[in-house]
Amino acid sequence: MRLSKILFVTQRQDPAEAEIPSHKLLLRAGYIRRIASGVYAYLPLMWRVLQNISQIVREEMDATGAQECLLPQLQPAQLWQESGRWDTYTRAEGIMFTLKDRQEHHLGLGPTHEEVITDVARGMIRSYRQLPLHLYQIQTKFRDEIRPRFGLMRGREFIMKDGYSFHEDEPSLQQTYDQMYQAYSNILRRCGLDFRAVQADSGAIGGAASQEFMILAAAGEDEVLYTEDGQYAANSEKAVSVPPLAVLSPFAACTRQETPQTTTVAALATYLGCSPTLIVKNILYQVTFEDGRRLGVLVSIRGDQEVNQVKLFNALTERAPDYGAKQVLSLQVLDQTSAHLGCSPPWGYLGPDLGADWRPHAPDYIAGLLRLVDPTALNLKNFVTGANQIDYHWVGANWGQQFPLPEPTRVVDVRLAKAGDQAVHDPGQLLQSARGIEVGHIFQLGRKYSKALGATYTNEKGEEVPLVMGCYGLGVSRLAQAAVEQSHDQDGIIWPLAIAPYRAIISVPRITDTAQMAAAEQLYAQLTAAGISVLLDDRPESAGVKFKDADLIGIPFRIVPGRSLAQGKVEVVRRQDRTSQELLLTEVAEALGA
Ligand code: ATP
Ligand code: MG
Repeated sequence: MRLSKILFVTQRQDPAEAEIPSHKLLLRAGYIRRIASGVYAYLPLMWRVLQNISQIVREEMDATGAQECLLPQLQPAQLWQESGRWDTYTRAEGIMFTLKDRQEHHLGLGPTHEEVITDVARGMIRSYRQLPLHLYQIQTKFRDEIRPRFGLMRGREFIMKDGYSFHEDEPSLQQTYDQMYQAYSNILRRCGLDFRAVQADSGAIGGAASQEFMILAAAGEDEVLYTEDGQYAANSEKAVSVPPLAVLSPFAACTRQETPQTTTVAALATYLGCSPTLIVKNILYQVTFEDGRRLGVLVSIRGDQEVNQVKLFNALTERAPDYGAKQVLSLQVLDQTSAHLGCSPPWGYLGPDLGADWRPHAPDYIAGLLRLVDPTALNLKNFVTGANQIDYHWVGANWGQQFPLPEPTRVVDVRLAKAGDQAVHDPGQLLQSARGIEVGHIFQLGRKYSKALGATYTNEKGEEVPLVMGCYGLGVSRLAQAAVEQSHDQDGIIWPLAIAPYRAIISVPRITDTAQMAAAEQLYAQLTAAGISVLLDDRPESAGVKFKDADLIGIPFRIVPGRSLAQGKVEVVRRQDRTSQELLLTEVAEALGA
């Protein structure tokens, strides 16, 4: 491709709209252009990168026996109602773009394809002889993200590879899942990325295994907690750890004490001169179920610990059937700013025994407060906690004395694991923290969708049973930008060889110099014939501008037909480390890996 003939526009200045290096560089180098929030045009150089990644993905997927297909982006609401996700996706997270057709039928723009693929499966899979089966596609997904940002990292329209597998039983699913783990590892390795597979939250489905593939980079939105011995790595949403020990309580006798202006754990610990590990803090939440009904939830946890909202959300989803509900739509903390509740508990002084009949004066509120206790709070003796009265706390209290011992079903781990905590598998190892960009997620779905949509098959015994499913997502466009985030310098992008839009760029210092142009044309023809993708910078620009642009767009090799042409040689500079070689024209193709 000749730069003089193609759309090639670079910018010297950082665009104001971008915060992180990869986003700035992709905009500056003319790879992408913003059309609307979270909506980008993939310009020709970007498209080549995306195609290269897709090709690697296809090769690795096909090698496992998975088959490529293409599913519709327009998805009927009715399928999502059958799975029970229409409400979650249109109301709770509100992540699905929806529209109505001319017959007033509701449709969604595909954010993911479990419903569609399960519909295909229920129509086409009849017998165990057809199993296992794995279909995948590479396609644009639509999600009305709450906070689209960082360019392609979190778009509202983005490219994903998503695959879905169908099985007779769990061992067969496990086999494909393990294959996908390997395939994803191969893909990321081939794309030249430094990654880590971590345990991930699998939502409310419980038990089912799920792993995320993280590209390690400071700009990552996820926190990974891991141990140095390589035995443990998990998304902080999912991570577990051993909490630090609580100190021994000096409060032998139980008293109700006036503790003015101690609405925070820190203020209370200072006032009493005690460790925050001796305090049971009580946090009030409000859960909204899919039918709009709300429930108050009181969580008691040790004062020095934080609640992991994902764990809490999952615990509440598990308990939703107790309230005749199917799903939790949303979860929010209630505090002094929640004045709209029309009632005001003693904020900052809540006790674990906040009245079971406590609830705001709203007709949609379910009677009875759900009380949950984290094990860190349950294990305390002679602790300090709120007395349900402004400016008062209990000091030296105990479960089973001042407060009823919680039922076992009310004790649940909702604690956020933190860097510095001891690892569960080996308390000698402390959890370390790193930032990660989630590029892939593999997941054992089990029978959730097949049961909901009635996707069954006939097993060897002649019984009709639900299919067992797995699903495997990989963010192709996010991966492309993650590669830049991981591999760049102050001058621009440094594409890993396997996904670079072109392998080489011939930067002609002066196009009016006929010897230079002749050598460039000769090389261009030679390299193209050798199957090496090459750009020819034949623009009427100075050598300085051309070199800067070549660095910015990150092409792995720059070839300069310059001074050494007199000896029949050109300069070949490697973008990665700027090492330079003088090579005969005939040697270039081989040096570039043809
Ligand atoms: P996240 O937690 O980052 O929102 P997710 O859990 O919603 O991701 P999945 O539904 O598992 O993601 O989608 C599979 C893959 O698609 C992700 O691992 C990620 O690489 C990519 N992806 C998800 N959302 C986006 C987005 N808004 N923009 C770009 N890529 C995305
Ligand atoms: Mg998401």
